[in-house]
Amino acid sequence: MTTKETEFEAARVTMVEEQIRRRGIVDETVLQAMRRVPRHEFVPYELQDGAYKDGPLPIGEGQTISQPYIVAYMTATLELIGNEKVLEIGTGCGYQAAVLSCVAREVHSVEFHSALGRAARERLNRLGYSNVVVHIGDGSVGLIEHAPYDAILVAAAAPEVPKPLLNQLAEGGRMIVPVGREDEQTLMLVKKSGNEFVLKRGEACRFVPLLGRHGWRIF
Ligand code: SAH
Repeated sequence: MTTKETEFEAARVTMVEEQIRRRGIVDETVLQAMRRVPRHEFVPYELQDGAYKDGPLPIGEGQTISQPYIVAYMTATLELIGNEKVLEIGTGCGYQAAVLSCVAREVHSVEFHSALGRAARERLNRLGYSNVVVHIGDGSVGLIEHAPYDAILVAAAAPEVPKPLLNQLAEGGRMIVPVGREDEQTLMLVKKSGNEFVLKRGEACRFVPLLGRHGWRIF
């Protein structure tokens, strides 16, 4: 390993202890994934030195990579044990998808911006995340061809829980989605149990808007 890589690895250990475990996330498989995925590979080169800071960063096209704590929190709420098929809406740079791929069997991630989606696909391939498939399109309608999903993670803010996503949850499936106004949301955890959906409110958060049919704007 180069000195730089050793430094990044040490920064990841500190990030997990100070930003994530200290705030109450104890799921060891999630912490392990956060220690493993090289976050600096997912941010623009000139921002690499800030990759392990306690906040979001710009990734181009007006979009952001989420704060490490939020990535860990959302992943932990899905209670994955390793055999699940997971859908992510909003691939962005692919970081969240890489974390999910360490704790689930198969990850499908949908990105609206084709340039971001193509770059994420190339990056995830290069880094060897072979159980992630990046799809380009409007994820607010879900991804019917691989449904149902054991877990769904929505990484953009929705005006309400998108109906098609509820319909694509498997029995016992979980979904985490930021719901609320464009400038502030609450993370909602939805569990499908029989014909019912049980909702639980989580942390306050601020995501970029979900676009598309069941999002804020139709293009
Ligand atoms: N999970 C990402 C961060 C996502 S930022 C990461 O780890 O980097 C939110 C992303 O959602 C943006 O890239 C945005 O382009 C995308 N997005 C917004 N609306 C979408 C839609 N309807 N379908 C798919 N992606 C969407």
